[in-house]
Amino acid sequence: MKTVKITSIVAAPLLGESPKGGWSAEIKPEDSVHTLIAVHTDAGIIGHGSVFSNGGLVEAALKVLEPLYAGENALEPERVTEKLHQNTFWMGRGGTLTHAISGIDIALWDVLGKALGQPVARLLGGVYRTRVMPYCSVLMEEPGLMRDVAAKAREDGYRALKIGWGPFGRRNDTNLDEAIVRAAREGFGEDTRLFVDAGGSDAYWPQGLKWAIRTSHMLKDYNVGWFEEALKPDALEDFVELRKQSPVPIAGGEVLTRRQSFTPWFVRGAFDIVQPDATKVGGISEQRRIAWMAEEFGVRYIGHGWNTAIGVAADLQISAAMPHTDVVEFIGGSAYVDGLLTEPFRLDAEGYLEIPMLPGIGVSLDPEKVSRYAPKWKSIFAA
Ligand SMILES: [Mg+2]
Repeated sequence: MKTVKITSIVAAPLLGESPKGGWSAEIKPEDSVHTLIAVHTDAGIIGHGSVFSNGGLVEAALKVLEPLYAGENALEPERVTEKLHQNTFWMGRGGTLTHAISGIDIALWDVLGKALGQPVARLLGGVYRTRVMPYCSVLMEEPGLMRDVAAKAREDGYRALKIGWGPFGRRNDTNLDEAIVRAAREGFGEDTRLFVDAGGSDAYWPQGLKWAIRTSHMLKDYNVGWFEEALKPDALEDFVELRKQSPVPIAGGEVLTRRQSFTPWFVRGAFDIVQPDATKVGGISEQRRIAWMAEEFGVRYIGHGWNTAIGVAADLQISAAMPHTDVVEFIGGSAYVDGLLTEPFRLDAEGYLEIPMLPGIGVSLDPEKVSRYAPKWKSIFAA
């Protein structure tokens, strides 16, 4: 096969409909926090990727990285993105540059799959599953509204739900914390999977280890499947202790980037479940390595690429290629997930998403739909 060369890489920031993040400094319509990427090639194949980061930062990162990727072989995602990592140790490593490289990497896997006519899952080594259960990820609300939101998710066909952020742990009121979880369990039903995300990576998370341990025991009473980000995202030693004392599995890792950052968390035994984000951590190449490292340490890998339809598509392909990844994060009602694809994701009758076994990451962006949210949409469809 002849070489396929990268001719250009462009970014299209998404604007106007970013879903609420639950952050104390909440996202405004004019903020760009999710960015689409396209890799253009001399074979006419276009690969699409996605970055969970500010659009202006991603565009700036592409300028810095361009001399390293220009003319590179577009069929070698892992080698090319490792080249980008290795040559930027001194410039924003782990931050903006790593975020941008994530989108490039996803797009390169998409190019490779399209060039070979194979789904990325197969190129990652093989397909363990062709469908996966999405858990509907919603923000926590006061108990009355929480019950309604959970009931609506059930009505919409979901069989797994994650509630997170909002007032939970923020009011120093353990009765309120419990009432929120009880309301979600009642609204969503006993025969479903429920997860709880404290949102410890918001600014100035106020709770510490004792709260987390006490809360983990409360969550057991509601048959909660995991307790996520119960502590500040860098509190490694407290996570180690929490995992020892919690009766429910402990999850985290969504703000860590680069495989090297995850090593101490696995070695110290901080997580039952690790949730790297393919759109920030370094892309599919990095995510696959972290997921397999987790596997060796007996930690389950669950993806966090929920932020755009391309992030979800990348997560679906990796889920297919990992033996124990039976759920994937999925935000309900986001324009960037539901409103960008030619064939939107659809739940089946049992609440699963089919993993598209089509070339590349298996989904296609619809130019007309993307144009509603991305002023620079044209550049990602034509070189
Ligand atoms: Mg989370």
